[in-house]
Amino acid sequence: MIYADNAATTRMSDAALETFCSLQKEMWGNPSSLYAHGQRAKEVLEQAREEVAAVIGADPREIIFTAGGSEADNQAIRSAAALGKKQGKLHILSSAFEHHAVLHTLDQLKKEGFEVTLLDVHEDGLVRPEEVAAAIRDDTCLVTIMYANNEIGTIQPIAEIGAICRGKNVLFHTDAVQAVGHLPIDVHAQNIDLLSASAHKFHGPKGVGFLYARKGIRLTSLIAGGAQERGKRAGTENVPGIAAMATALKEANANLSANAAHLVQMRDRLIAGLSKIPHGALNGDAVRRLPGNVNFCFEGIEGESLLLLLDDKGIAASSGSACTSGSLDPSHVLLAIGRVHDVAHGSLRLSLGEDVTETEVDEIIAAVTDVVAYLRGFSPIWRDLMTGKKEFIL
Ligand SMILES: *Cc1c(COP(=O)(O)O)cnc(C)c1O
Repeated sequence: MIYADNAATTRMSDAALETFCSLQKEMWGNPSSLYAHGQRAKEVLEQAREEVAAVIGADPREIIFTAGGSEADNQAIRSAAALGKKQGKLHILSSAFEHHAVLHTLDQLKKEGFEVTLLDVHEDGLVRPEEVAAAIRDDTCLVTIMYANNEIGTIQPIAEIGAICRGKNVLFHTDAVQAVGHLPIDVHAQNIDLLSASAHKFHGPKGVGFLYARKGIRLTSLIAGGAQERGKRAGTENVPGIAAMATALKEANANLSANAAHLVQMRDRLIAGLSKIPHGALNGDAVRRLPGNVNFCFEGIEGESLLLLLDDKGIAASSGSACTSGSLDPSHVLLAIGRVHDVAHGSLRLSLGEDVTETEVDEIIAAVTDVVAYLRGFSPIWRDLMTGKKEFIL
């Protein structure tokens, strides 16, 4: 199998798996217990906190562990909303192409009396800092803009947006689930107040993540219970999972630039190869995108059929995102960057892993080229396009 769906999840690294298994076997004590067996687990937990914090330039006390990226997004946004409400600030600014963990939390808050503005994303898949600045109001309590988009991979001008928010005294959260372990991050230099991350997107285990909250920002607890994580996240800590996340993150961070250099080469080779398919187009900016992300639309085909046929050829890819596939609605991300429904339906996301080879990239190019031609052979939309009944968009 050629696995080209690393934006959906990644395989655990050998080192992370080794940490996970050995701790699950040996270090199963409860970190809240006072005897030595529990306290050793506590030490492992606190070491993981230091390691995770160091990677993003935070203080360990600014990190709380969660059960993944969705939970961290929910908690960051709810916390900022609660703080805003106390000051009578009920406006939140975000973008139209956020992950559903953000968008659906904002939908809930709207029902609770908050007003939400979703900024348009431009055709290149980038939010404009000046538009963020213009949309911030006196009653804005939070700006939440993702670091890198999970479908089209575009990397947002986070430091610029952070500086604007700091200047206007508004909290800034970024869903950095696709960026942590893949791009260099410094929460202080980039003026990030709240940041969400998830281990399974950087070769750690699923169901583990973390939330960074700058010192002084009071978090709201989503779960009632014990006093774990300084009272901000009840529930016995997943020590093996958390430590395995730290192992994976340290590893990813140590290899960050080497991985990116290789991936950019592979990505650009893949983009060049797929660009030869007629009536197709790359989605999102060609340069300001994650090193391993390629996302195309091909006119006259249906993304789901493309995926199934690629699967037959041993290639695991995605159309839209895993969360929206299975529904007939085209991706909200592709619609947000201005693709029309018909075109958005013919999308393909290939998210490469660090160990991908040139031969594999060439195999992907050949397979996609074949499958697109094959599907167009009996597509009624393609026939209409070819006979001039319908006009090509791409
Ligand atoms: C995967 C993902 C999430 C959700 O993370 P989970 O750990 O699966 O809950 C949130 N935001 C983005 C951008 C993602 O890619």
